[in-house]
Amino acid sequence: MKQLESKSLVLLQHHLKALRLPTIGAEAEKVARRAASDNADHLTYLLQLTELELLERERRAAERRLKAARFPTLKSLSSFDFAARPSVNKVMIAELARCAYIDARENVLLVGNPGTGKTHLAIALSAAACAKGYRVRFSRVTELITHLIEARDERGLLRLKGQLAKLDLLVLDELGYVPASKVGAELLFDVISTAYERTSLIVTTNLPFESWTEVLGSERLTGAALDRLTHRCQIIETKGESYRLRDAKVRARRPKASTGPASPGETDGAPFSPLEGGEETR
Ligand code: ADP
Ligand code: MG
Repeated sequence: MKQLESKSLVLLQHHLKALRLPTIGAEAEKVARRAASDNADHLTYLLQLTELELLERERRAAERRLKAARFPTLKSLSSFDFAARPSVNKVMIAELARCAYIDARENVLLVGNPGTGKTHLAIALSAAACAKGYRVRFSRVTELITHLIEARDERGLLRLKGQLAKLDLLVLDELGYVPASKVGAELLFDVISTAYERTSLIVTTNLPFESWTEVLGSERLTGAALDRLTHRCQIIETKGESYRLRDAKVRARRPKASTGPASPGETDGAPFSPLEGGEETR
């Protein structure tokens, strides 16, 4: 009897491996013991195992999406101090975190001076999208342009554009810090126009619209890019002084020996959760 059992177990593991059900393979015996002691029937046992497999699959997929998004660092909405940035409407940001704009293929533009939380909000919003099952990629504009130029030289441009086309949301961070070369501007424009009404964009920039020509070079290209970007777009202005500066002032004012509560900007040491209320995944 014992011998038969272990033979069946080996076979079972083999079948589960062939069916690609690793979590069921790992948990089957333990859950079977629990089911026996709880007097659970066969269907309940099967249900418990399939639930475990599904949960583990979703967890791994979420991990993969987060990795594929290539965030430089993780930021959450719960660590964003809305009181310090009154021009940013908390209700509007919470609504954006629900991602309806992605389903509608709309864009989000974050405009404001350096240090005012544009990248923080862009990461928090796109991480929220990641958690909901959307395919996201975060890119600094200068890095994306470099990638595009390299891919063009190595004849990999189609492949890279293919990857971008599969995304639900592309973040273009820091548009305008460095003016693009003519080729770079054209490649960037191509990304923006391909994304139009297909992939949502979150763009962060310190430049007012009238200065975009300085980055993209040609007025014709700038007009066309702005036209597509802003056609269906929510604009968020992060007005006011730099949070880094404010943070530094708070630190400077605080007595040296003090071990008071964390100052603003230090709040992201907590385990990462892109959403405050742990919303449902898609
Ligand atoms: P920007 O992209 O506008 O230059 P960042 O988003 O990089 O600014 O913000 C600079 C730093 O300050 C980051 O560490 C960010 O997390 C923090 N920060 C900015 N605004 C806030 C805020 N309102 N609440 C909490 N942290 C903030
Ligand atoms: Mg930034």
